[in-house]
Amino acid sequence: MLFKKPFLNNPSEIFFRSKEQIERYHNKKLNKLKDVFNLPNLQYHWTASHKPIYSNIPHIDLKTSGTTTGAVKYYRYSNNSYYLIEYYHMKRLMFFNGIENGTFARLIQPQNHTEKLGLETKPIIDRATGGNVTYHIKYNGEQDENFWIQNFIALDGLGISVLYCRPAEYELFRSILPKIGERKYHIMFSSEILPPHVRANAKKWFISVIDKMRCWDGGFSFFECRYGTKHVNDELAIVESLEDGKIISTDLFNHSQLFYKYWNGDYGKLSMRECDCGLFGTVLDELQGRQIEFIVTDNGSLIPGTVLINYIFGITEKWDQNQGLDFYIEQHENKDIDLHFSQPLSPDQAHEIISMILRVAASHDPKPLKIMFVFDNKYNHFTGLHRSKRLLTTSKALKPKDS
Ligand SMILES: [Zn+2]
Repeated sequence: MLFKKPFLNNPSEIFFRSKEQIERYHNKKLNKLKDVFNLPNLQYHWTASHKPIYSNIPHIDLKTSGTTTGAVKYYRYSNNSYYLIEYYHMKRLMFFNGIENGTFARLIQPQNHTEKLGLETKPIIDRATGGNVTYHIKYNGEQDENFWIQNFIALDGLGISVLYCRPAEYELFRSILPKIGERKYHIMFSSEILPPHVRANAKKWFISVIDKMRCWDGGFSFFECRYGTKHVNDELAIVESLEDGKIISTDLFNHSQLFYKYWNGDYGKLSMRECDCGLFGTVLDELQGRQIEFIVTDNGSLIPGTVLINYIFGITEKWDQNQGLDFYIEQHENKDIDLHFSQPLSPDQAHEIISMILRVAASHDPKPLKIMFVFDNKYNHFTGLHRSKRLLTTSKALKPKDS
């Protein structure tokens, strides 16, 4: 079993050394999937991308979630698999970056306006950091230098080895880094594309910059080793690229929902080789076309989409007609923003949401954004339990500011 303790005792033993080893392992796992989903004719070489197939297996311990860009495609996962896979993914990343026993700090988006912000000095065991001891910093999406200086200084006393955040979150504190100086820990980015200007800036202030991704629908994941290679986790999923650049994956561990040759929206180029770090396997030579989960202001600042979305939820939850409300945020190339709502809003409601976004944006850039409401009922994906929340910006809206 891949995830058991031996990994910690002897990490070098569980890594693939050749293409044949990987193929053998993948065939074994595919056979297991065929059994679990009772699909005798699972074809191994479909060329088209397929939607996930739902199994009939009852699971009481399911994790159901989605991504910011497409909760419509919600997925099911057993909590146990989730934990094991996140653990494995992170331990491997740490091993290949020489951070075997790290303590993490992670930025956390508040769920509403009223939550207490700042550093929680009592560490927790956080599944998202692979079961490592983690400190959380709750923030509000605004660029408030005093807030970040205070929290970063408090972090210094805790001896962390990795700060874990989204590229858009980096924008919130980058201006204080020249004031407090080089950090004695690594920075790890996840969840969004890592723009080159964010990477270049972070390189100046942190021991190293590690990009990683763990996609829960389909299992496609990668991490950067100390040589900067983006290693795809061949142990977790079979990841392939199609002729048109689509990256498709077959999740080898999700026995609750079948993701077979599934496309999550990513494009890129893959190859298979041995890296100088000693790891053999699939590497990601190029990654592009991912939806961007942040808003870009006129001066190039990035505002984390998750913060705005949580705040919009916080506001709309007070409304009577909240049931069935669905929305997404679209930013055009000229930076103008359309807020697509599945129900018409009253002028007061519209005002409340627009002022919130403008307030957050104004702390990044004095030039105001232009925000329009769009009544758009075709985006109503309310299922009774899960609302879709989506933030789409065009990649063309992203013009890096100088680092
Ligand atoms: Zn490597």
